[in-house]
Formats: sequence, C-alpha cells, structure tokens
Amino acid sequence: MINEKRGIMMRLVLLGGPGSGKGTQADVLKKKYNVIKLSTGDLLRQAIRDGSELGKQAKNYMDKGELVPDLVMVGILEEKTAEFEAKKQGYILDGFPRTVPQAEALLKMLDKQGVELTMTLLIDVPEEELVRRLSSRWTCRDCSYTTFKDSNGNPATCTQCGGELYQRDDDKKETIMNRLEVYSKNTRPLISFFKDKDLLEDVDGFGQLEEISARIFDLFDMKGIK
Ligand code: AMP
Repeated sequence: MINEKRGIMMRLVLLGGPGSGKGTQADVLKKKYNVIKLSTGDLLRQAIRDGSELGKQAKNYMDKGELVPDLVMVGILEEKTAEFEAKKQGYILDGFPRTVPQAEALLKMLDKQGVELTMTLLIDVPEEELVRRLSSRWTCRDCSYTTFKDSNGNPATCTQCGGELYQRDDDKKETIMNRLEVYSKNTRPLISFFKDKDLLEDVDGFGQLEEISARIFDLFDMKGIK
C-alpha cells in the first residue's frame, strides 16, 4: 500500500496491551489497505505447531506469558522486513516491537533499508477491560480469528473459516496477570519512545470492533493514508 502523503509504502506498528484488539484490527486493515499482517505471536504459535527449533525455544516463554528474547525476535523481523521490501509489499506489525531494544532495532533496520516507519498506532484500552476480554477469548486453530464467550456460550467452530476454537494457554487466568505485568514493564515504555520521535498516534480501543475500525480509518484519512 502507498502512503500518499510520503509517497511510500505502508510500514505500520500496532501497539496495545494483550487483548486490545491489535490482531483483529490488523486483519481489517490488511484487507482494506492491501498490506501484509505480520503477527509475531501467530508466527511463534505456528513454529510451536511445526515443532521447529524456533518453536522449541519460544514455547517455555510463551506458556508463562514471558517475552521471547529480543535477539531471536529481531532476527526474525530482519528477515521478514527484508522480504517485504524486496516485494515492495506494505506491512503491519502486530506484536512487534514489544521492548525498547526491539523498537530501537526496528528503527535501525528500517534506516539500513533506507525507508521510514509510517506510524505507530496505539489502540488504547483500560487494563480492567483487557482482563475481561482475555479471560473470555477463544482463538481459531486454523486462521487465528478470535471471538468472545457470550451468555449463549461459544460457537463450536470459527465463524470465519469453520476451524476449531480453543483457549490459548496464555489466555488462562494464571497467565493473564503476568502478561499484563510484562506489558506494563516492557511494552508500555514504547508509547513515550515513539511519541518522542513524533511517530505515535492513538485511537480509543473501547467499543465495538467496527467502531474502532472506523476511528482508525478516520485517522488514516486525516493523515492522507489511502
Ligand atoms: P501475542 O499473540 O502477540 O499476544 O503473543 C503471544 C506471546 O508470544 C507473547 O506473550 C510472547 O511470549 C511471544 N511474543 C510475541 N511477540 C513477541 C515479541 N515481539 N517479543 C517477545 N515475545 C513475543
């Protein structure tokens, strides 16, 4: 996708707590703006299913709600962003960067590639709402679509692709509080990191999926992103 304002393809970071709706909004944006979504969480879960070396390294951290080491994550991102640049394919990062060293590494790699970050978009959701959402979230094994328990119980299968739904190990109560702590300690500082560099925008992430998407579309319109 081309960002008309800067005449360059889109390179977007989505920032927000676990359960803020980053992944869901990234799916919406991916379709509307014809960009690739790179979810590092999905990529790691796939590596675990494949039984790859990366999956074996990541599993212990993920099960506890801890972060996979920066070195591993930065290596993956270097490879992926180089691929996107080679294909001239705009992209959205969902779940990366998660620490200040990852953010510094990202800006360094973009600089080396001779390109700029379009924007970091914070989806702002209060912590009580994150806890409520995470503890009632179910995920599709096949397409990673997430849905929430409601008073009528869960649909047995994914409404998007018919795949089986499951509760992620790290969406279980014991792990949620740890993930929120890890977010506060390691990821929240990225808000001021990107703000200081004039690379941060935010939208209110409270409300229905469509309302939040509409806020993002309005923001992109305002910024000349088409
Ligand atoms: P997510 O699906 O984004 O909530 O990520 C699930 C888990 O994957 C996290 O709790 C971390 O253990 C791991 N993970 C995903 N992205 C990163 C990252 N950028 N750095 C470190 N760990 C990550």
